[in-house]
Amino acid sequence: MFFELSEQQTMIRNMVRELAEKEIAPKAAELDRNEEFPDEAIKRLAELGILGAIIPEKYGGPGLDTVTYAMMIMEISRACASTGVVTSVHNSLCSWPIMYYGSEEQKDKYLPILARGDRIGAFAATEPDAGSDLGSLSTVAELNGDNYIINGTKTFITSGPRAGIVIVFAVTDRSKGTKGISAFIVESSYKGYKVGSIFEKIGIHASLTSELIFEDMPVPKENLLGKEGDGFKIAMATLDGGRIGIASQAVGIAQAALEESIKYSQARHQFGKPISSFQAIQWMLAEMATKIDAARLLTYQAAIRKDQGARISKEAAMAKLYASETAVEATNNAIQIHGGYGYTREYPVERLYRDARITTIYEGTSEVQKMVIASSLLR
Ligand SMILES: Cc1cc2nc3c(=O)[nH]c(=O)nc-3n(C[C@H](O)[C@H](O)[C@H](O)COP(=O)(O)OP(=O)(O)OC[C@H]3O[C@@H](n4cnc5c(N)ncnc54)[C@H](O)[C@@H]3O)c2cc1C
Repeated sequence: MFFELSEQQTMIRNMVRELAEKEIAPKAAELDRNEEFPDEAIKRLAELGILGAIIPEKYGGPGLDTVTYAMMIMEISRACASTGVVTSVHNSLCSWPIMYYGSEEQKDKYLPILARGDRIGAFAATEPDAGSDLGSLSTVAELNGDNYIINGTKTFITSGPRAGIVIVFAVTDRSKGTKGISAFIVESSYKGYKVGSIFEKIGIHASLTSELIFEDMPVPKENLLGKEGDGFKIAMATLDGGRIGIASQAVGIAQAALEESIKYSQARHQFGKPISSFQAIQWMLAEMATKIDAARLLTYQAAIRKDQGARISKEAAMAKLYASETAVEATNNAIQIHGGYGYTREYPVERLYRDARITTIYEGTSEVQKMVIASSLLR
């Protein structure tokens, strides 16, 4: 595949890179240590239109293409993976399904709020007993007059404690299996909406992850997204796009690990030479760089196809699988190259290693990505 960024894409990439290097990266270690939400960074990203990157101009966003969006998530995640995933979920998992499946009233009401960053967006599918198997949800939504009454518990929700608008999936007709699942636009101000436990995690500490508990929560029936029974289809299509965001996050983390490793290996001397002169180190760097480029190209390929309106389940799964596994390997190698110092908090590679680990799990584990790829091959 031949790939070159357009002049406009290069300009935007440079602008986001500068912002990320100057304003986001310097705070990343401290936010990680304090498990603190990146409020300032999110505010800046909102001011610059990046938080609502994919939202069309008509609804207050810049309406950027998916390649530009992926590039932005790479640059943000290169500086701070937590800020990267908050931005990715806000765009791909909350704004996109409203853009694609929402009624005109829903788009008019919610997209400008999301574009301005007045409320943070989230996506609530996973439950304590329904992870990879999203067809087995327990949360129920029952129509009662003008409202659906939702009861259930969602878990591991990115931005859960901060979210203002959440796409929630619930069963409206259990007899229909996955065709009995529906999607709703839920506001955190609704009665019966509660934030449950906030999880202590290995990495992405500044991205807060929590349970969301719904107890007899009335949701106006006009907040049904698509039709009753469309929920599973909406979840799968949304996750296809979301995987481009997570692949981009993984590329950004891996790129940061490579750059730190190059810098360190040239500065660190052993046996009277920089360790970068040893072939063992050079080979690690060469493999990291090659795999990161391959991951980036797979991610752009999926993004280009998305912009063409093509089906992207296989391409997005390939990008997410390869980029996330590459991020785990590259950050592991980065620690090896840093030796004992890599195992301490003195250098950023330990944070990159912890942050990379989640990318093979959320928005579908690597095993699930392989299932998606294989089912597309064997159709
Ligand atoms: C930090 C974090 C943030 C998250 N953010 C969100 C969010 O914003 N919204 C949301 O809805 N969810 C979110 N999730 C949930 C995430 O998407 C799930 O954790 C993930 O999909 C896996 O589900 P599970 O944890 O229940 O694992 P399980 O499904 O129980 O899987 C456990 C293991 O079994 C394997 N496995 C399962 N089924 C199969 C199979 N058929 N074949 C082979 N292997 C299989 C899996 O690959 C995995 O290795 C988040 C999770 C974390 C940790």
